Amino acid sequence: MHICGMEKLSLVDFDRYTACTIFLGGCNYRCPFCHNAHLVCDHTSQPNITIESVLDYLKLRRNCIDALCISGGEPTLNADLPVFIQRVKQLGVKVKLDTNGSNPRMLNQLIKTDLLDYVAMDIKNCTSKYSLTAGASVDISNINASIELLKLGAIPYELRTTLVLQLHNTEDIMELSDWLTGVDKLYLQKFIDVGNCIQSGLTAVDMEQALEYKRLLSKTIDNVYLRGY
Ligand code: SF4
Repeated sequence: MHICGMEKLSLVDFDRYTACTIFLGGCNYRCPFCHNAHLVCDHTSQPNITIESVLDYLKLRRNCIDALCISGGEPTLNADLPVFIQRVKQLGVKVKLDTNGSNPRMLNQLIKTDLLDYVAMDIKNCTSKYSLTAGASVDISNINASIELLKLGAIPYELRTTLVLQLHNTEDIMELSDWLTGVDKLYLQKFIDVGNCIQSGLTAVDMEQALEYKRLLSKTIDNVYLRGY
């Protein structure tokens, strides 16, 4: 596991909890809108924060840090993730996982062994445009398996889609609405170009269109929210 970055205190990553967030290097996708290009395409040149230093920090701060958010990159690519999380949980710290959902086997293992308190899973687009939007060949059966695992409801979760004008249109959203029928919660996130995206020249979906997408998705999903608008 390559921990490239650490945000020692975040008040926005995990609902009502104070959290520390770590960013793991490496990803099997190349989403054009990804703003962590350095973690995805070039993580070996990034800093290497040791597992022990993260655990030491959590131990020292456990009176004021409720949770650790594990983000990336794609954390589930790391075979040593479960053992690491076990050590975090032994400190009494909650764990939130950010994932692209491509590794249902690991997700299942983490859920079954009670290692996660919350999962935020990306849904890149409708199935017919999934690989295009992820910038990689995506096996949709893995995404479906991850969604089904989350729908079992063993732990709280959210799905989230970053809306990009060049990648999402009304037809895609209607297809997405059918596909995601019955999931608990979906966030539609505003794309922000921080100047470090994998592809340049992408733009956000405007507020009016985002509200229309929310309306369409609300036909099949109980809780649809905008984030960043
Ligand atoms: S946005 Fe895409 S490329 Fe970037 S870390 Fe997430 S899954 Fe990987």
